[in-house]
Amino acid sequence: MIRRRRCKILATLGPASNDEASIEKLWRAGADVFRINMSHANPEAMRETVAMIRAVEERVGRPIGVLVDLQGPKLRVGAFAGGGADLQAGQLFTFDSDPTPGDATRVCLPHPEILLALAPGHQLLIDDGKLRLHIVEADADRAVAKVDVGGRISNRKGVSLPDTEIAVAALTAKDRVDLEAAVETGVDWVALSFVQRAADVMEVKRIAGNRALVLAKIEKPQAISRLDEIMTVADALMVARGDLGVEMPLEKVPGLQKRITRDGRRLGRPVVVATQMLESMISAPAPTRAEVSDVATAVFEGGDAIMLSAESASGKYPFEAVTMMNRIAEEVEEDAVYRSIIAAQRAAPERTGADAVAVAARDMAETLDLKAIVAWTSSGATALRVARERPFAPILALTPNRDTARRLTPVWGVAAVVTKDANDVDDMADRACKFAVRQGLAGPGDRILIIAGVPFGTPGATNMLRLAFIADDGKRAE
Ligand code: PEP
Repeated sequence: MIRRRRCKILATLGPASNDEASIEKLWRAGADVFRINMSHANPEAMRETVAMIRAVEERVGRPIGVLVDLQGPKLRVGAFAGGGADLQAGQLFTFDSDPTPGDATRVCLPHPEILLALAPGHQLLIDDGKLRLHIVEADADRAVAKVDVGGRISNRKGVSLPDTEIAVAALTAKDRVDLEAAVETGVDWVALSFVQRAADVMEVKRIAGNRALVLAKIEKPQAISRLDEIMTVADALMVARGDLGVEMPLEKVPGLQKRITRDGRRLGRPVVVATQMLESMISAPAPTRAEVSDVATAVFEGGDAIMLSAESASGKYPFEAVTMMNRIAEEVEEDAVYRSIIAAQRAAPERTGADAVAVAARDMAETLDLKAIVAWTSSGATALRVARERPFAPILALTPNRDTARRLTPVWGVAAVVTKDANDVDDMADRACKFAVRQGLAGPGDRILIIAGVPFGTPGATNMLRLAFIADDGKRAE
């Protein structure tokens, strides 16, 4: 039986959950998509994890999504003699291209393109913003910075540059190897970290071709200033609040989350809200009130999916965290206020046949209290456009394409079933009724709506709506 929850759950796998029994338990608790974070995995480990997810998928008989998250060009300082140094506020500290181990006055920044791009006034944040410096002097070989917030800097700590446009390639050598391995393995989604511009996303899409869809992680101010162009080319977006909250003032993150969620919906791009959603559950069996409220806000806003990172990957309570997310999302979706918030954010349709059909489908489902909107879809595009309308009737996507069913797993309100293509319009209506009944969405006396593109199998040809009645025997009434 399909799930009725509209907002989907992404669970990151890691040492706490990376075995077949745990993956199945997480799925049964409510996880719809599993994320493999390539910052902590190599292609061999990724392939083993995907094989386990596919074995679970086979056993549970429902499509499960796999998202491989590429590490991206994460910038790091070099090594220190003695492992690290303590920096004091007010002192000067130099970043240079000399690979000899650093000390309390300097360290190597092994990225020549950054030294070239740094300019006086630019901020430099170390170790997720724990240390803060600003550049006072810069040339091609060295940049001298003044420490604003001091602390311990140690080997290979991450560097964030909120003010600096960096001419780094979107994909590192490791990303290229991981990406090729991921698409060869048949994963459904690939996420790209530290996106700065649309061209970064297009580069990954060019390599992935039609083998996987591409999600752009929005975590840099440069991406925020080019959100429209990035959204146009990406297949989905992630509000990656971890790095976003380092590179932008923290208080700006909630507003950006709302903006990205709404813009994504307007364009019909799924949006995942990520990071620290149930952070305290890494070490405690219950979340804080504020975390529950944060998860609920993402669901109320109509986000397509909410994500767990360390909570399910390395925490002590991975199953409890998924169970809690599931409970919060289910409760929000039953709340009387939920429908009015979702309806108030409805975006105007584009002037296409698919959108006209999607709007009409939502309208008819509401007017006639239909039990399901059944969308025949080969690429998934029809189901996505219906999801963009946020109808309250469940969306059942019927597709001959297993990849499409898996790719729809992070999409708001859509449950997909793989079945062979319909032979003709009557077959299409008969089987839509059969699947709606079999999946527990409708029963005798109920009505459903079927949408499709005729002739069948023509992508982008959504042009048909048909109302169907279910008879006492559970079949379509003549
Ligand atoms: C984030 O920064 O919020 C994020 C999801 O990215 P990662 O977990 O890869 O740091």
